Amino acid sequence: MQLIDGKKLSQKVQESVSIEVEELKVEKNIVPGLAVLLIGDDPASHAYVKMKAKACEKVGFYSITHNMPDTISQDEIIATIEMMNSNPRIDGILVQLPLPKHIDTEKILEVINPEKDVDGFHAYNVGRLVTGLEGFVACTPLGVMKMFKEYNIDLEGKDVCVVGASNIVGKPMASLLLNANATVTVTHIFTKDLKSHTSKADIIVVGVGVPKLIKEDMVKEGAIVIDIGINRIEDGSLVGDVDFENVSSKCSFITPVPGGVGPMTIAMLLSNTLKAAKGRK
Ligand code: NAD
Repeated sequence: MQLIDGKKLSQKVQESVSIEVEELKVEKNIVPGLAVLLIGDDPASHAYVKMKAKACEKVGFYSITHNMPDTISQDEIIATIEMMNSNPRIDGILVQLPLPKHIDTEKILEVINPEKDVDGFHAYNVGRLVTGLEGFVACTPLGVMKMFKEYNIDLEGKDVCVVGASNIVGKPMASLLLNANATVTVTHIFTKDLKSHTSKADIIVVGVGVPKLIKEDMVKEGAIVIDIGINRIEDGSLVGDVDFENVSSKCSFITPVPGGVGPMTIAMLLSNTLKAAKGRK
């Protein structure tokens, strides 16, 4: 069994982003800029945004966080995004999800200029991903693809079971895998017999938010298991969606939680923002 070290790979990506930022500054006088909209006081969202701001600072980006109360109206959020759309110093716009219940998330995401959509959630970029065209891709599944590449894991013809089918994790993950010529099965809460799908898979990619959902008897010998889940359990520790202790010995490769996919998400956000800055008009 080999551990896929997301922390180490994330650092490697961040170092190469830093170098490119320096070059961009010297050659074109461009400093990549990221705007983050943080609405409400969800502690997890605040923690994620803080980590993102810190990572931006480390690689030499300009970043601003718009901190708004959860009483804010949809129109006010839209006006802020429009301001960021026309701000020449801002290359990437990120709206931290989830949004308060009175806000229509899809409507908000549609307001972001697709060229600044570094989270890859805009329908324009989702459409480009599905059709296999260049665009911005959601950071978490993009980070998983980076892991496959780094560890020379060939996807062509592999049976991959994606567990979880959200717009931000499972669906873009499935599209990326399909574009890489894998045979993809997408499972979700309404799947009748999850084990019958996971136990046949060469690769399992799970992102559902259920601690230890993937158990030993659901994984075939030698499988590759990628755990996207982040769950805080009663004792305060973070665990994934895989019963790591019992599953890992069966795997050829597995990601830990923490230190697996999580750090890759931030690295890919930086990489996407750099890409947007390089395309600045
Ligand atoms: P979500 O609630 O939007 O979607 C969950 C998906 O899992 C749905 O498709 C649902 O049908 C499916 N699901 C739920 N219970 C299931 C079950 N028992 N069996 C099979 N499928 C089931 O969640 P999300 O935003 O996609 O996040 C999923 C997990 O990934 C969470 O733990 C979240 O914290 C984590 N996450 C991690 C990162 C990261 O950077 N590592 C990024 C985003 C999300």
